[in-house]
Amino acid sequence: MELLKLFYGINSKSGNEAEIKKFFLEQLAGLELLVEEDAFGNIFITKGVADSYPCVTAHLDEVHIPTERNIVVDGDMIYAVDADGERVGIGADDKNGLWIINHLLHTKQVLKIALFVQEERDGEMAGCRGSKACSFDFFSNVRYILAVDRKGNNELVTVGKGDIRLCDDSLFPQHLLEKYGYECVPGGRTDVVALKERGLEQPCCNIGCGYYNAHKADEYTLFSHLEKALAFVSEVIDFI
Ligand SMILES: [Zn+2]
Repeated sequence: MELLKLFYGINSKSGNEAEIKKFFLEQLAGLELLVEEDAFGNIFITKGVADSYPCVTAHLDEVHIPTERNIVVDGDMIYAVDADGERVGIGADDKNGLWIINHLLHTKQVLKIALFVQEERDGEMAGCRGSKACSFDFFSNVRYILAVDRKGNNELVTVGKGDIRLCDDSLFPQHLLEKYGYECVPGGRTDVVALKERGLEQPCCNIGCGYYNAHKADEYTLFSHLEKALAFVSEVIDFI
């Protein structure tokens, strides 16, 4: 939980991802990884050498404007208050995804990771700017892309906003869906939806990773739900 609290302590409003990017990569010191950054600022990480890779994605940015954040842990719940004790957002959307990916990079031997900048809408600017700008070359040898960027703890988005089919529901083994209580649902717009709109062929989805009230001052995480998401993603990667 300590690493998660440190992630929450770093504001990464869209366009200002440099600090979270640096801190995230520092946590990977000692691992043998190929880390690449494209001209737009998206990060691509490869671990291991294989003919094909599982791929997991999250976004580095968040919607909240920088403000003092005192992280509060109340049992299973994590949230933040400012200097006046008022609730402020923590950017769990999508620091929870970054936390999961940190664990996966430490435990899996073969893995590809895409970390996008500027996923969130910002005033007049549409969202998914990083994923709209990236090359598909990195994905040419991935079997699928699992996004960890969905609220809650039991939904797996397989159809994105605009009726964009991300993957066939049958991609996921039924016994794992049942074991972790996930179900396939239609959902909103995220980086994987933008990639599919651009014609990416590989199956994608977006998995609930334990955050609630995203984009709001009373945003919070239930840590056990985040841990469940990590366990689910880890087992899915071992299986498909
Ligand atoms: Zn998000």
